[in-house]
Amino acid sequence: MQLRRVAVKGRKLFRAIILDMQKINILEKELYLASIDVKRNESLIPHTTMKVGGNADLFAVTHNIQQLETAVNSSLKLDVPFLVVGNGSNIIVSDSGYKGFVILNNTHDYKILRDSKSVEKNRCMDSRFKPLDNDYLSVSAFQYSDEGRDDVVICADSGLKINVLMTKLFKKGITGLEWFSGIPATVGGAIYMNIHGGCHYFGDIVEKTLLTYGVSKEVEHDYFRFGYDWSILHQTGEIVLQANLRLKKGDVQKAKKLANRWLIKKSQQPQRSAGCIFHNLTKAEQVHLNLPTPSIGYLIDNVLNLKGVRCGGAIISEKHAAFIENQNNASANDIIQLINLVKEKAKNQLGLNLKTEVKLIGNF
Ligand SMILES: Cc1cc2nc3c(=O)[nH]c(=O)nc-3n(C[C@H](O)[C@H](O)[C@H](O)COP(=O)(O)OP(=O)(O)OC[C@H]3O[C@@H](n4cnc5c(N)ncnc54)[C@H](O)[C@@H]3O)c2cc1C
Repeated sequence: MQLRRVAVKGRKLFRAIILDMQKINILEKELYLASIDVKRNESLIPHTTMKVGGNADLFAVTHNIQQLETAVNSSLKLDVPFLVVGNGSNIIVSDSGYKGFVILNNTHDYKILRDSKSVEKNRCMDSRFKPLDNDYLSVSAFQYSDEGRDDVVICADSGLKINVLMTKLFKKGITGLEWFSGIPATVGGAIYMNIHGGCHYFGDIVEKTLLTYGVSKEVEHDYFRFGYDWSILHQTGEIVLQANLRLKKGDVQKAKKLANRWLIKKSQQPQRSAGCIFHNLTKAEQVHLNLPTPSIGYLIDNVLNLKGVRCGGAIISEKHAAFIENQNNASANDIIQLINLVKEKAKNQLGLNLKTEVKLIGNF
């Protein structure tokens, strides 16, 4: 009886694997017909900033929004799991890789839609990162404002890297992205995570946006319900194709100066990482623990004393304890062990349930 049950289970598993392979074969053919180059068993290491992880069953680079739309919607139609990767700067891929289709978003066009008189939207989320008195934000080079200047709305493909777009726009006299200078994000990743630079949130500049998930639709700013490290896309799984961003006809020289300051500061952070691993603390947690800042790096360094702890080739960064760095051919497993160590210590010593900001891809 027992043997029979095992045999039936084995047969079901075998059939499921064959079905998955068939779906992937059909998807590969559909993509080929849509002129999208597809690869099998592509290593994901070069496509993430953490530089760890296994292979994707199927992999393609999309160069325009029609290709991105086709890749996403063909996967959905055939029920093949898919993942859209921008710059891969906020993901950790498991050593066993990703069972499905990875779509690398290399869409890269933008256009200036319209200039208009300034319409202050006053969208300023309460920042979870309030600087300490002697912090860098009180330095005058970090205090640039283009408030009151005329608006410019641009439409950007979601695969554009923020730094590339910022530089192109400076040449056209357009400012507004300088606060995010040095963050290795694409427009799509920046919207998904609502990135923050200084006390500025990317969501504050997002206007009408084109999304896809089976069908494509335009949505307005409020649809995203932007929060700290959060947008509605975490729930819906929709993919950003293009976004309108409300920027400024600002003082380019001043904005460039600010952008360079940020670039220098950000380049000192560990680049072979996935950014801040955990969310900063909430106001309530900070008050409860009587800490001078909600910064998670401060907590890991000064309270948990875990800065510099190693596992295999990974280390809790000595430059910035909120980051885990791949210093010496780390595996994803090395990184996960450090993440778990920080979580356990925070739970056992302080009763804190830390939440990871990075997205874990595949089986951990
Ligand atoms: C050195 C370093 C410094 C960093 N500094 C900062 C910082 O100052 N502030 C900050 O907020 N973050 C920072 N980060 C984190 C990271 O850059 C951001 O989270 C960024 O938004 C990730 O963008 P990405 O394009 O790399 O997304 P990916 O890492 O490729 O993907 C992240 C998630 O977004 C989803 N996604 C990507 N593109 C789309 C799309 N078009 N539509 C829908 N979903 C999509 C992916 O599916 C995935 O779930 C830093 C990271 C590093 C490595």
